[in-house]
Amino acid sequence: MNLAELKESLSQPKKIVITTHHKPDGDAMGSSLGLYNYLIQNGHHVQVITPTDYPIFLHWLPNNGEVIIYTEQEEQSKEFIAAADFIFCLDFNALSRINEMGEWVGASAAKKILIDHHLDPVDFDDFRHWRVSACSTAQLIYEFIADLMQEPELISKDVADCLYTGILTDSGSFKYPTTTAEVHLIVAELIKKGADNYRIHQLIYDNSSEDRLRFLGHCLSNRLEVFSEFNAALIWVSKADLEQFNILTGDTEGLVNYALSINGIRLAALIIERPDRVKLSLRSTGDFPANEICKKYFNGGGHRNAAGGASDDPFESVIQQFKNLLPTYKSLLLQ
Ligand code: 5GP
Ligand code: MN
Repeated sequence: MNLAELKESLSQPKKIVITTHHKPDGDAMGSSLGLYNYLIQNGHHVQVITPTDYPIFLHWLPNNGEVIIYTEQEEQSKEFIAAADFIFCLDFNALSRINEMGEWVGASAAKKILIDHHLDPVDFDDFRHWRVSACSTAQLIYEFIADLMQEPELISKDVADCLYTGILTDSGSFKYPTTTAEVHLIVAELIKKGADNYRIHQLIYDNSSEDRLRFLGHCLSNRLEVFSEFNAALIWVSKADLEQFNILTGDTEGLVNYALSINGIRLAALIIERPDRVKLSLRSTGDFPANEICKKYFNGGGHRNAAGGASDDPFESVIQQFKNLLPTYKSLLLQ
C-alpha cells in the first residue's frame, strides 16, 4: 500500500486499532494516544489496545480512559483486532513484542501500518513510516500527521501533550544525540499548539511514591556493583526487593541510568527478578553494542545504547552470565 492509497482510504471513517509494545513506556503511550486523539477528529472508530498494563505516571494522558489492556479484556480485544480495517503498530518492530496479541494481529485481515524507530523491523506491515534515527516514535507520529497526512491543523492540545510526552521520555529529556535541531523545532511547534511542558515534566518525573524513592536508595546503597576493570556496572533487584518496596509497573524505569551515570562506566545493566522471568535492561555509551549482548545471550535486542532481554534461567545464574560476559567484551569496554 502506498501513501496515496493510505490517504485515500483514511478519507472515509474506518475501524482502527492502535497497539504498541508490551509494558508500554512514555513513547509507546504518547504515540498511541497522540495518534488516537488525531484520528478521532476525522470520525474514525479508534481503539487503543496495549498488550499489558503500563505505569500510573502515564495515566493522565488525554483519553487514557479509552485504552483497553489485552490481558484484562482479551475477548473484546480480539474482536476489535479481527474487525479492524487498519492496525497501527507503534514503537515496535516485530509481532513478538506484543506477546500473544501478536498472533491475532498477524491473523487479522486489517492493513498493518508500522510507525517505529527500532532496528531491523520484521516484514509484517503494509505501509511503514520507519526511521532508526528518529528520537522517538512520537516524532514519527508528528511527521505522519503533519507531513504525510498533511493535517498539521489537527495537532490539537491533546495530540501535542501526548507527542511531547513521547519525545521527552524517549530522548532522555532532550539529552540523547538523536535530539536534533529538527526535534527541537517539532517540540517548539508542540508547545505552540498547547503542550503543557512544565506540567508534563512534573507529572512524569516528580510523581514518585515514597516507596519508590526509598527503593532507589536501597538499590544504590545495596544492589549496585561496579566493575571498574571493565568500565561496567550492575544493579540487581530480587523479587523480595520488589515486594518489600511495593514496586509497581514503571517504578524501575530510569534505574539503570544511575549505574551508567558513574564516571567512566560504558556499560550498565539492570537485572530484575520479575514474577514470570528475569528481565535485563542494558545501557551503554558510544559505540558499545548493548543490543548485541541482549540479542546473542538474552533473547532480546533493541538500540545500540539501550537494549533489553529476558531469561527463564534462575536469577543468580543470569547475574553470573552477565558478569561472565565482561571479560569477552573487555577490549570494547576499555576503548
Ligand atoms: P528497557 O531496558 O527500557 O526495557 O528497553 C530498552 C530498549 O530495549 C527498548 O526500547 C527496546 O527497544 C529494547 N528491548 C527491551 N526489551 C526487549 C526485548 O525483550 N526484546 C527486544 N527485541 N528488544 C527489547
Ligand atoms: Mn520509542
